[in-house]
Amino acid sequence: MPQYKATIGLEIHAELKTAIKMFCRCKNDPDESRPNWNICPVCTAQPGTLPVINKKAVEHVLRVGRALGSTLADFTEWDRKNYFYPDIPKGYQISQYKYPLVSGGSLAGVLLTRIHLEEDTGTSKHDRGDYSLIDYNRAGVPLMELVTEPVIHDAEIAVRFAKELQLLLRSLGASDANMEKGEMRVEANISISETDTFGTKVEVKNLNSFKSVGDAIAFEIKRHAEVLERGEKVVQETRGWDENTGKTWSQRKKESANDYRYFPEPDLPKLMVTEVFGKDHEKLPALPELPWEKRERLKREFGFSDTIVEMYVSDQTLGNFFKEISGMETNQELVKLASNYISSDLAALMKTANSTLGKVTARNFMGLMGMLFMGELSSRGAKDALTVLFNEGGDPETIVRSCGLIQKSDTDFLETIVKDVIATNEKVVAEYKAGKEASLQFLIGQGMKASKGSANPKILGDLFKKLLG
Ligand code: ADP
Ligand code: ZN
Ligand code: MG
Repeated sequence: MPQYKATIGLEIHAELKTAIKMFCRCKNDPDESRPNWNICPVCTAQPGTLPVINKKAVEHVLRVGRALGSTLADFTEWDRKNYFYPDIPKGYQISQYKYPLVSGGSLAGVLLTRIHLEEDTGTSKHDRGDYSLIDYNRAGVPLMELVTEPVIHDAEIAVRFAKELQLLLRSLGASDANMEKGEMRVEANISISETDTFGTKVEVKNLNSFKSVGDAIAFEIKRHAEVLERGEKVVQETRGWDENTGKTWSQRKKESANDYRYFPEPDLPKLMVTEVFGKDHEKLPALPELPWEKRERLKREFGFSDTIVEMYVSDQTLGNFFKEISGMETNQELVKLASNYISSDLAALMKTANSTLGKVTARNFMGLMGMLFMGELSSRGAKDALTVLFNEGGDPETIVRSCGLIQKSDTDFLETIVKDVIATNEKVVAEYKAGKEASLQFLIGQGMKASKGSANPKILGDLFKKLLG
């Protein structure tokens, strides 16, 4: 088979987080389960209604553009994208064609073409047999569309790009961007060629997980190669991805921009962006720390491994929690110790509680870590106390005391335990005396058990050595 080079460009839609819809005052609530609850004459296209622009949605798109180093528009215009489908009540979608809000920029090394703002459609249910149902709760929800240049050459980079965009949207508070919920939807354009001239592209829709994005692209690249090998031509079309079969299927021959008969939206004025956000868009709210800045800083300040860094960057709850404790504690060693417990034990506990921190607060957590750091508590004791703290909350010192987890360094008490262990483990003691070092660990383990985890293992070891030496 000849060497084909794959080319991929992505079009990604994200539902923006706003209180109300794009052009009316209906609630923008992706969790509303009652069909046709958040609707009004505007978003159901009743005659005589007029759209009003949602400033917050414009702000979100501009901030995404700012984060990506793009050019922000001084003005923008709206266009009607005409097509008929029951989930689009006006018979057209208000979108931006000629004058997008954002142009250029890059993310994860991928160049962007543009980002524009439009409105989402309603949702249809076709599972009823001879009729369909339509829910207009989503109709008119602000939707941003980001388009990349055709500069991606393999599936992994495409997936990485989509993941990075999700992180960015979340960190900006622009979108929750959950792919399973349809809050972020990826379309992949794919072509292959033996030369530098692009081949015919196919657009794949219905990609509602990162895995689907990667699998569908890989599938298409292979399919195109097989088509060309048979001496046939790739047909320019839109294809759907079937998660169950792991295959794409032909949906329709691709429409071109002409088919949509784009024309300027007569019901909306040209939006003078600089009049609203300032000449240099300086009135845009400041950006938070961006995911890639955070990665860089966590490595620089704490020397964390990539795995830990990714955990703090991708899990906002964990990331913010670490940020809070690293902000209140100046002892870097203690912060690192705390991080070990956050990324392992606390993260595991969170999995049992819907990814929440339970009753743990930065303050009570650091109280516990302080006791561990000072040697008042064994690591086993800290784990146990953390579980109690997570489930019940409260003062860490009280918990540690009431659970009897204070690490015992009291030699008399420990000597009784050590003598007891020696008396009941004659065989192991004999082995130790015969020179088997590993037996000491076993004896210390028995001592820890007898003290219910409260003994200081170092002191126990010393006592065994003394009494057996
Ligand atoms: P269309 O007019 O068919 O919608 P666009 O030029 O608007 O095409 O591009 C849509 C998307 O397809 C963009 O993400 C772009 O990068 C990508 N794209 C364009 N040409 C190709 C190609 N030959 N192979 C892969 N992707 C492409
Ligand atoms: Zn409405
Ligand atoms: Mg296009």
